[in-house]
Amino acid sequence: LAKEYGGTYHYFTHLLREKNIERSNLLNALHQAVEKSELEVFYQPKINYDTKELIGVEALLRWTHPEFGKVPPDKFIPLAEETGLILKLGNWVLKEAIDQLKAWHAEGHMITMAVNFSIRQIQHPRVVQTVKSVLDNAGIDPKYLEIELTEHTLIQSHDAAKIHELKDLGLTIALDDFGTGYSSLKYIKDFPIDCIKIDRSFVDGMTQVPHIAALNSTIIHLAKQLDYGVIAEGVETQEQIDLLMKEGCYCMQGYFFSRPVPADELQEMIESGVAD
Ligand code: C2E
Ligand code: CA
Ligand code: CA
Ligand code: CA
Repeated sequence: LAKEYGGTYHYFTHLLREKNIERSNLLNALHQAVEKSELEVFYQPKINYDTKELIGVEALLRWTHPEFGKVPPDKFIPLAEETGLILKLGNWVLKEAIDQLKAWHAEGHMITMAVNFSIRQIQHPRVVQTVKSVLDNAGIDPKYLEIELTEHTLIQSHDAAKIHELKDLGLTIALDDFGTGYSSLKYIKDFPIDCIKIDRSFVDGMTQVPHIAALNSTIIHLAKQLDYGVIAEGVETQEQIDLLMKEGCYCMQGYFFSRPVPADELQEMIESGVAD
């Protein structure tokens, strides 16, 4: 059935209709997901293709419900954001990811951990203390933590002050899905960020559509001019890699290297520390 409906997402949409799973049912289930151990963190490597090094990983939340099956993050994260449940889920992911990072660091693999934060988490009054205590408890140097924020949700100017406070801990901030919001330039003007993540849609189109290639190239050069790091997401083909390298974007993430996988499945790649 999953195949018939073209993968998990369509399968799930179908299931939603079929079983008439209501929003409230999903939300009730999500409320219990932490306690019932239905959540898991997957990791996707970030590669420096110039040195072929695995420089870090991004933590991505996974939810498998006994009845609904695998629920895609694009379905349950927005729901969690609307209801505030994202605070609980976000804290759980952060702790889980930092514990995993501690294990990798203990083995001598000094990679970075990127964690997605919703704006609701950033706006929470205790976010700085929470992040600091998770890092302190694990004995992780904050410079190994990168917080990924999407530009769709950064709105208010006082968010900028909060981000400064977080950065003062010593961690770094990446602007996710760059180029897909309505005010991308405003965000890099107003927010103290360290790295731009070029949205998958640009990477996808750049080998076929000349004006997307031009936009992609402009974003890379913009990042360099501003002295920001730049990473391309959703890299799937050698052709994309070659074009990115030519434009001077060496850091990449995508199915070409690895899908997001459980920590133990990444172990071999982590141990060798190289992309191929
Ligand atoms: P994102 O942060 O932009 O994460 C990248 C998404 O692209 C992930 O989807 C990843 O599996 C997928 N991806 C990676 N490489 C490729 C590729 O080469 N090709 C294609 N087609 N896709 C690729 P995922 O894991 O389903 O997550 C979707 C979104 O859900 C994330 O987008 C993020 O916005 C949100 N999310 C996931 N985990 C968390 C979390 O712990 N906290 C928060 N706040 N949001 C999360
Ligand atoms: Ca992300
Ligand atoms: Ca992204
Ligand atoms: Ca995204």
